[in-house]
Amino acid sequence: MTAEIIAVGSELLTPRRVDTNSLFLTRKLNERGIDVVRKSIVGDDRQRLAREIRRARESSQVVIMTGGLGPTLDDLSRDAASDALGRKLVFQQQVVGWMEERFRRRGRKMAEVNRRQAYILEGAEIIPNARGTAPGQWFEDDAGILMMLPGPPRELEPMFAEQCMPRLEKIESPYHYHTVSMRVSGIPESDLDQRIGPIYSAEPRVATTILAAPGDIQIHLRAKAARREEARTIAEELAVRIEAELGRRIYTREDESLEEVVGRLFRERGMTLAVAESCTGGLLAQRITSIPGASEYFAGGFVSYTEEAKIGWLGVDQTTIEQHGAVSRETAEAMARAVRGKAKTSVGASITGVAGPAGGAEQTPVGTVFIGIASERGVEVKERHFGGERELIRSLATQTTLELLLRIVR
Ligand code: AMP
Ligand code: MG
Repeated sequence: MTAEIIAVGSELLTPRRVDTNSLFLTRKLNERGIDVVRKSIVGDDRQRLAREIRRARESSQVVIMTGGLGPTLDDLSRDAASDALGRKLVFQQQVVGWMEERFRRRGRKMAEVNRRQAYILEGAEIIPNARGTAPGQWFEDDAGILMMLPGPPRELEPMFAEQCMPRLEKIESPYHYHTVSMRVSGIPESDLDQRIGPIYSAEPRVATTILAAPGDIQIHLRAKAARREEARTIAEELAVRIEAELGRRIYTREDESLEEVVGRLFRERGMTLAVAESCTGGLLAQRITSIPGASEYFAGGFVSYTEEAKIGWLGVDQTTIEQHGAVSRETAEAMARAVRGKAKTSVGASITGVAGPAGGAEQTPVGTVFIGIASERGVEVKERHFGGERELIRSLATQTTLELLLRIVR
């Protein structure tokens, strides 16, 4: 069984809005073993929409439309579906009743235009919407299923998960799927692909997806088989072969971020952390504290941006900076040692570097970053030379620091 998604709305064809509903829908459909074979975005144009619905229904058994169910004249999904299927729209008084009740609870009166939302495709079932006024519609005939769902993600997501998925699950699928995810840090995407490409391309029963962000790569392995156990075995066997190649570069076998893994391990080990940042201006602390409950292991951080702040607040020796410079192995070491001492944590981490675009020197060109990790084992400093723009350099600096922290707690 295959699916197609039609995202409806002229705003999605501007540079200001992006269709995210289809990402959510694809994830849910894939979990059920339904492949999405085509997605399209169509503006608020009745004819183009009707044509797209007809085309989609010819090639896939499941067609999902999102958006265009509002009360205004540019909400045309209902009319377009009516044109495409040659079926009337039927006014349903009960839908008006629900909408009026919803407005009453908020102390408001329903506007007349909302009546448009009570038109239901002849033969379709109504999918109630607990979080908005536009009900969804589920239509089924010999050609397949057509769903119309509202555009706002907070309405669509629970509706689809709670009401549409159980209906789809009743329809027999001949396949089972099993997905294994892993995440890798500290290796460029091209190197990664060179190493694991030959491994996964030799396994045609698994669809392999590689998603790369700066310094961080997700690998998703999705196996398809007639039996659930078989799908699991196929995916796991491939995962083991990839693990053998990448080893400890893989930081998790779950869908979790590097800061989550580092945080979890700090908590499990009963260890604590403080950071002193220069060129990243608090980005590292931001990533660490984006994880709920980080206060269990994260004491805090200094953004010691100027030399005065490094000396006055943090307590780095003036002579260290004078002799070696603010961006140096020695200053990174002193920063990590100082923050660990001040915060009385088990680990202190520091970052000092040149994020650019100005400020590069012969010894320390733009992209030079020193990262210090102070722990009971002493202080370790890594020198890195990142390419790219300021934001990329800053992001890679935090990523590398988290990798080094992972080594301490793993
Ligand atoms: P509509 O149901 O067309 O009135 O859409 C209402 C609102 O939902 C729009 O203004 C968007 O903010 C949001 N929306 C519509 N379609 C999508 C989509 N495909 N992805 C994310 N948000 C959407
Ligand atoms: Mg719209």
